[in-house]
Formats: sequence, C-alpha cells, structure tokens
Amino acid sequence: MRPFAERARIFLRFHDALLDAQEEILDLIQLESGKARKHAFEEVLDTAIVTRFYAVHAADILAPKARKGALPGLTQAWQYQHPKGVVGIISPWNYPLSMGITDAIPALLAGNAVLAKPDLQTPFTLLWAIDLLIGCGLPEELMLVVAGAGTELGPFILEASDYVQFTGSTATGRLIARQAGQLLTGCSLELGGKNPMLVLADADLEAAVAGAVRGCFSSAGQLCISIERLYVHDSLHDRFLAELVRATSRLKLGGALDWSCDVGSLASVKQLATVTRHVDDAVAKGARVEVGGKARPDLGPLFFEPTILTGVVPGMTLYAEETFGPVVSVYPFASNQQAIELANATEYGLNASIWSRDTDLARRMATRIQSGTVNVNEAYAAAWASVDGPMGGFKNSGLGRRHGSEGILKYTDAQTVAVQRGMAIAAPTGVPDEVFSRWMTGALRALRRMPGLR
Ligand code: NAD
Repeated sequence: MRPFAERARIFLRFHDALLDAQEEILDLIQLESGKARKHAFEEVLDTAIVTRFYAVHAADILAPKARKGALPGLTQAWQYQHPKGVVGIISPWNYPLSMGITDAIPALLAGNAVLAKPDLQTPFTLLWAIDLLIGCGLPEELMLVVAGAGTELGPFILEASDYVQFTGSTATGRLIARQAGQLLTGCSLELGGKNPMLVLADADLEAAVAGAVRGCFSSAGQLCISIERLYVHDSLHDRFLAELVRATSRLKLGGALDWSCDVGSLASVKQLATVTRHVDDAVAKGARVEVGGKARPDLGPLFFEPTILTGVVPGMTLYAEETFGPVVSVYPFASNQQAIELANATEYGLNASIWSRDTDLARRMATRIQSGTVNVNEAYAAAWASVDGPMGGFKNSGLGRRHGSEGILKYTDAQTVAVQRGMAIAAPTGVPDEVFSRWMTGALRALRRMPGLR
C-alpha cells in the first residue's frame, strides 16, 4: 500500500484540479440532473471541502493510538485501523458529484479499493470525476464503476464488498440492510428526510425568508436535507408567508447552462409524477396553493414551479411522506415546545433548521430535535459543510455517518494489539489461584480509588 502522505497528495491535487476544471463539470452536472448552475456549484464546493478535510486530517484520525493497558505499567496497548478491503458505494442521481465521489475519498484514503454504482441516470459525472482522480495519480484499479439498474446489480455489489455505503431512499436502504445483515457486511445508510424549519418569534424575518427559499428549492427540492415543513410562530406567520410567497414568485426557472436561473428542472419523469401526485392530492383534500403548484412544460419537459402550500393536514400524502421536490407546507405554531413536538412528529430525522436571534436558545432547542443535523440561522449548508462533524440520520433517515472521523473510521477495522511485560495476567508459578484472586481483588480496589491511572 502507498504511504499515506502519497495518497493524501493525490487528493490535494484532485482538489485543485476540480476547482480548475469546474466549468466543464458544472455543465455535465446540469445536463445530467437538470439543476440550476448555482446548485451544481454546491456539489463542487462540497467535494472540495470534503477532499481537503480528509486529505489533511485522515492521517491523524487513522494513526495508531496508544490505549490504556489492562495492568498499568505491565500491559501496553495500541489501537490500529486496517482498511476493510473493497468498499461498495451505491449513490443516487440528485447530487451525482457529491454523492458519487465524497464518500469514496475517505474510503480510498483509508487504503480501500472502491466499487462504485452511480444511478443509471447520472453515471457520466462520476466517470468524469474518476478520470480526473486518475489524472491526479489514483491507480486506475482502485476505483471501478459499474453502471446499471440497482435492483439487478445490488446483490452482486453486496457480495463483492467488505463494506457498503448506500445513499438513497429509505425503502431501498431497508433492502440493502437486509442483504448486508445476511452477509454480515457492515453498511452505512444515508436515507430520506422530511426536514422541518422552525421560525421562532424573534427571528430575523428577511434572513429567514431568504434561508427558506434556499432550503426549500435548492436543486428543485431534490436534496435529502431540503426543507419540506416550515413552522412559523403565530406572531410572524402571516408576514413571513407573504414575504416567502413574494420571494418565491420572483425565482427564475430555467435550464440555461449559465448562472442566469435560480431553479432548474426536476431530474426525471418519475420525479415529476411524484411531485404532481403529492400536490394534486393535497389540493384535492383542501390544501391551499399560495404560489406555484403546477408543472411548466413551456420551459421544458420536467419543470415544476416552486410551490408553497398551507392548510396541509394528516391524510394528505405529502403531510408525512418525502416529496423530494420544490414543495413546502407552511404551518403556524404557538409555543417553542409545540414547535419541537411538531418537528419531531415524523418517522424521519435527517436535517432541521431553527431561526432565532437568540442563538443560545436555538442551540438548546436544537438538541431536543431528533435529527442528525440541525442548522441555526441557516437551512442546511452550515451543518452539512461543517465536515469535521458527522452527518447522518436519526430514525428512518439512516444508519451510520459520513463526514468527520466517523466518516472514515467506518471504512476500517479497529484492531487492539497488547504487549504484556513482567507478570502474566494469571497466577504466577507456585502462587495458588485463590491467592492470585485476592491480589487481583486488591488491585481492582486500588485502581477504583485512582481514576487517573485508568
Ligand atoms: P433509490 O433508493 O431509488 O436509488 C438510490 C441508488 O440505489 C441508485 O443508484 C439506485 O440504482 C440504487 N438501487 C435501487 N434499488 C436498489 C437495490 N435493490 N439494490 C441496490 N441498489 C439499488 O433512491 P432515489 O429515489 O433514486 O434517491 C432519492 C432518495 O435518496 C431520497 O429519498 C433522498 O432523500 C435520498 N438521499 C439521501 C441522502 C442522504 O445523505 N441521507 C442524500 C441524497 C439522497
């Protein structure tokens, strides 16, 4: 295996090469996914941040660590991290660069090979990124791509992998977990969400409206951490809604391969059908469309207007199910306690957002929300991009974490090596077991009184 410093240099070169070649990959991401250029740029940003983080910090995270030995002074122990072997990475279409490559970077840096399966709809972005990586020095044989239907390739990828990193829907995540369980292969599952945003009574209204627009409509809402439920304090609700409707109606939809559009199109006919079905169902059951609410075939086959709904109640499909489109439901709340309860009333727990001028209060409230990330005065980018911290889901939003030390240690097996000196951990020759047991009992009592030693 190549020395770590050499591996890290490949990824630092990749970081720079990606930033240099961004115009090309921005075009490709837009062409494959339909998103606006500024949302494609979020993928470049994310990939660069994650690459730098692991290239700089992975050596420390993975370095052998001294551990406290069984008997102070007599046992020395170290912890080593060994690569798992082959890491299978199954990724979705919504962030083809970010989701395709950023989980592979820590896997490769930790010394694994990667078998990647992008979504059938977006393989070219990942192939482009791998080509760039190979140009930066990654040995070709360390990252292989298989493109095809997940239902057909999934079982083979699981068989061939020593660990599986999956990003996609909760339904597919359950299937992967079942197969991984059968094979006793570890897996990390990054799944769906129905993410809430809470606007407290003292929030900066203008900032919260701008944050909601970013949170609800980035990548046309096809973002696992995007906001689909917006809870606004009674005292602000009407003003907030009016401002949000105004800001949303000003968004420019379009598919131009430049920076002129605010929101792009949906990624597939399937997505358009789901979004249309969810909105139509809510409207038929009494929800009110404040803005948007319909497809825009005049702009292209897969455009759907950024949509704000009110009057959404249980029984409407999108009340609890992830829409994964540019649709948000706005609800009033009366107290912070009620807001927390509403935020937590979901099977999911991926991301949440709280807006308040009292950031200490918001931080305390954040810890009561059952969600892998919570952003205060930002919708999703602050916590996602704080890649020193872990990212993942509570409840049905997933198992395991990406980012931070968790996001690389999972691709390794931990090993403890202990060296025993002097006395064995057993009765010395000639000492009866009963006597030895008294010595050890005394030693345990002494250790209990000297917590510094243990
Ligand atoms: P999906 O589960 O249908 O597909 C995701 C990937 O899994 C694709 O590559 C697909 O080909 C593959 N796949 C499908 N069936 C498979 C099977 N039986 N075995 C193995 N692989 C299989 O997901 P999707 O609907 O295309 O993606 C959107 C979902 O992904 C949303 O629910 C979204 O919230 C979630 N997502 C989550 C995160 C996160 O970090 N938590 C990030 C992005 C997307």
